[in-house]
Amino acid sequence: MTRHLGAGQGALLRTELEMRQRRLDQILSAHQEGASRAEHAHALLAQDEDGARRHAMDREVDMARSDLEIAELGAISRALLRMNQGDYGLCADCGAEIPFDRLKAEPQAERCVPCESKHESQQQPAYAGRTL
Ligand SMILES: [Zn+2]
Repeated sequence: MTRHLGAGQGALLRTELEMRQRRLDQILSAHQEGASRAEHAHALLAQDEDGARRHAMDREVDMARSDLEIAELGAISRALLRMNQGDYGLCADCGAEIPFDRLKAEPQAERCVPCESKHESQQQPAYAGRTL
């Protein structure tokens, strides 16, 4: 743990990260089950033009959501890894200490606020406005 976080704060953030990781794991496996069920329904609806089209749209939305969840899960795994390495809570770009208040809201945050906004303005539109 980095020096600017106390032991209690570190423990709290680790618990928060592990909780989010478990929750996302559950959401993602539910999505996978949903997708195979949807595939089956799609086969049944093959003759129904309208149903098939509506279905394709549902699936797109579902996949976009999964992408975000996979990205968040990746960030959480990286945060837990950094925690084990002892450099958690330091900005990946400038090395500044990320304040505890920011980490409490986004325990997987990899950057300080100024670097995060710079980073986000370079991201694809689909990810804009999302704070990590
Ligand atoms: Zn920074």
